[in-house]
Amino acid sequence: MDSASQSANALLRKGILAGAGNPTLRRFVDRYGMSLGGARFVAGETLDEAVPVLRRLNDQGLATNTTLLGEHVEDESTTERVVEAYEGILERIAAEGLRTNVALKLTHLGLDFAEDLAYANVERVVRSAAALGNFIRIDMEESRWVDATLRIYRRLREAGHDNVGTVLQAYLYRTEKDLEMLLDLEPRLRLVKGAYLEPSSIAYPAKTDVDAAYERLLERMLERCSHVAVATHDERIIDRALELVAQNGISTDRYQLQMLFGVRAQLQLDLVARDHPVLVATPFGPEWYPYLMRRLAERPANLLFVARNVVRR
Ligand SMILES: Cc1cc2nc3c(=O)[nH]c(=O)nc-3n(C[C@H](O)[C@H](O)[C@H](O)COP(=O)(O)OP(=O)(O)OC[C@H]3O[C@@H](n4cnc5c(N)ncnc54)[C@H](O)[C@@H]3O)c2cc1C
Repeated sequence: MDSASQSANALLRKGILAGAGNPTLRRFVDRYGMSLGGARFVAGETLDEAVPVLRRLNDQGLATNTTLLGEHVEDESTTERVVEAYEGILERIAAEGLRTNVALKLTHLGLDFAEDLAYANVERVVRSAAALGNFIRIDMEESRWVDATLRIYRRLREAGHDNVGTVLQAYLYRTEKDLEMLLDLEPRLRLVKGAYLEPSSIAYPAKTDVDAAYERLLERMLERCSHVAVATHDERIIDRALELVAQNGISTDRYQLQMLFGVRAQLQLDLVARDHPVLVATPFGPEWYPYLMRRLAERPANLLFVARNVVRR
């Protein structure tokens, strides 16, 4: 992509992420978004809708994770229902024999209210997952939650939970330091570029710098972490990851390539055919709006996909 298109994309990305808070836009997208293209990125609004999607992906040789979409709940008591929902999801995954783990957001479990509440809630989910032989990934959210998320991850690991991992975002300047601070935990980490709108005082504004930081972090993580999830659709970075894996003889139980449901589906299958472990992040739930807006912002060309569906109706 030339630099003019990169700047146009960066502007569109900013515009979409900033506009996502507009109530009129939200009402419109809430009403029509799923049928106009949201279903490409989300496995349905209910667990019953998501299960066959997860099964189909598993049948194609792809591991999956799922998430009950939601973030920033409005009151503390809602978090109790979110914990119960996750416990139900874990039981259903076990009953259905799916190769699916769970990714969740701490603001969905009450991090906006109190760190201790979020910790107690996530610990319950992690315990339930352990009893069922499953794994929990704590997603990384906006930069203001990074410190608390990493503290909670450390607390969980120091309490003896090893079926839990978290995420680092390459676009934040702080991440290389954060990684070094986590290494004593023998962490299971997912590396992403970063999906939120962050100021240039804390995050690289240029894609080339984010990509370079991603590669530096990837190298260090593959060297030192107990497991690394290389979460990107960027083929150049995937090739680099696979080169490092081959050079260092890293076994398939120490890394995984991760992509999003609805993005680069053929690439996912091609990588599985080459015997690489691949996971497809496959969320569901009625609160899909912010998730969809982030997917549109990552690739403004997705707006064209939505617009084509509007025209077809
Ligand atoms: C499994 C997984 C988990 C994630 N978890 C988090 C998290 O916890 N916190 C967080 O901040 N971010 C998370 N992300 C999002 C991530 O930060 C990026 O925003 C997202 O992956 C897009 O960046 P990229 O690495 O694919 O590279 P880019 O350089 O953005 O994209 C590379 C190429 O991939 C394709 N592509 C990328 N995105 C899309 C899209 N939405 N639709 C269609 N094509 C696309 C395009 O062909 C593009 O040219 C996650 C991503 C994945 C795959």
